[in-house]
Amino acid sequence: MKVKFMGAARTVTGSCFILETGGHRFAVDCGMHQGNGEIEKRNWETKIYEAEKIECILMTHAHIDHAGLLPRIVREGFRGAIYATPPTIDLLKILLLDSAHIQEMEALWKTRKRLRHGEGEKDVAPLYTRKDAEEVARYFKTVDYEQQITPFAGLTVTFRDAGHILGASILELEVIENGKVSKLVFSGDIGRPAQLIIKDPTVIERADYLFMESTYGNRDHKNETDSLNELAEAIAYSYGRGEKVIIPSFAVERTQELLYCLHMLDGDGRLPKNMPVYVDSPLATQATEIFRKYTDYFDEEARGLLKKGEDPLRFPQLHFTRSTEESMKINTSDGPAVVVSASGMANAGRIRHHLRHNLWREGASVVFVGFQAQGTTGRRIVDGAKMIRIFNEDVAVKARIFTINGFSAHAGQSQLLEWLGHFRSQALQVFLIHGEYSAQQTLAGLIHDRYGLPVTIPDYLEEVTLKPGEAVERVAAPDQAIPRIDWNYIIVDVENRLKQLRERQSRIEAKGWVEQVEVRERLLDLNRRLTALISDL
Ligand SMILES: [Zn+2]
Ligand SMILES: [Zn+2]
Repeated sequence: MKVKFMGAARTVTGSCFILETGGHRFAVDCGMHQGNGEIEKRNWETKIYEAEKIECILMTHAHIDHAGLLPRIVREGFRGAIYATPPTIDLLKILLLDSAHIQEMEALWKTRKRLRHGEGEKDVAPLYTRKDAEEVARYFKTVDYEQQITPFAGLTVTFRDAGHILGASILELEVIENGKVSKLVFSGDIGRPAQLIIKDPTVIERADYLFMESTYGNRDHKNETDSLNELAEAIAYSYGRGEKVIIPSFAVERTQELLYCLHMLDGDGRLPKNMPVYVDSPLATQATEIFRKYTDYFDEEARGLLKKGEDPLRFPQLHFTRSTEESMKINTSDGPAVVVSASGMANAGRIRHHLRHNLWREGASVVFVGFQAQGTTGRRIVDGAKMIRIFNEDVAVKARIFTINGFSAHAGQSQLLEWLGHFRSQALQVFLIHGEYSAQQTLAGLIHDRYGLPVTIPDYLEEVTLKPGEAVERVAAPDQAIPRIDWNYIIVDVENRLKQLRERQSRIEAKGWVEQVEVRERLLDLNRRLTALISDL
């Protein structure tokens, strides 16, 4: 049996694993690569997935980093079944459409930019369209938790509650090859125990090969009570100064958890009655409706509240904005408010408008409640940037920044280890996926020390061959998959440019005063950007 790592290998996004066994070829997840431009290029190189040769896709959950390439794969010829739980399917329908909309807007923006630069009239094609996203729905097949399916003879799959987001699953695969049964477990994203709304991750005891996420492999979360207090602190801080609390949030799960928290703070009298809370994301609004449809998937506590007639996703100050006009009104309105908007990493969506209006305001606060991937606006703010570029404009960071990681939908380091500790198999082989490399190395060390298990950290496009009872055979990714960066060349090049500038100093001085001022402005701007870059390192 072969497993090829198409993404989420030494990174957190692009989850997709293509498996081959007994002449069959299928995939677990089909996620979008997100982050910097170099990583996002991978979304365009989907020919290597050989879509028409994938027989079926098993979906762990609806997040775009696990599902965002489905429309493209269908467009490229995939015609099999996409197995997922009912809430995952409902969430996918709205999330994929939203993703397609973003792709279309981006293509439009690139086309306009090209026209402005006089680079021809040819339209830039989107990664996929809304029509492609709608097409995906034809291939969905519903699977419930604990139900066993047989996509083809030789493969049985069971979906278990992963406790990560509504409908998220851990996949247990039994593969029969040459009369031998191997058990593979794909953890998907593992939820944090005691997460609000949904249940705890299912404990699994047996596997030969475990493909485990490692997003928080190098750290633990603060506890939930601390996080709730921090949220209350942010609210009190900005309320007292008449400013807004801006919360970049993922539309699914995090927004609903936040509503649950705000519902609790309201109950405790810690959310002022005259402080409106806006959910400014059409997607989050739709997702909240899907949550209300699947209350069977809630944990006991949340169901208990509902039984008492108390809706944990509602409180008097709450408003859902629909139109762009309503959204814009939030920024022109004075006075304190809480604004929950997407995207969660602040690199797209309406949240950018709210950041542009509030990031520079002393007294405002920005509350990060989720993981911020490398290369995103959110990550730069969390890492302490003094200046942030939004819509081609530098915005100073004067708002108070809160990073609350107790609300995470991911297990922290010790929770990952605890979950792993339930496995009873002697010859368990662990593959760490879905994590940044340094976090994975830390976790691999701990797994080795504590449980004595062999751990592999596969790289992008690496392929492994699994044979029961034998060591894992690895074939490294081709060199062109992860091109080396020649730092020496780049830095020497920049140094040379500065030398050229120095050589032309007399030419600058020979210019008129107004022109000199312009050159000075351009050079100072360059200097500011260099300073920002250096301070980020
Ligand atoms: Zn996820
Ligand atoms: Zn994920």
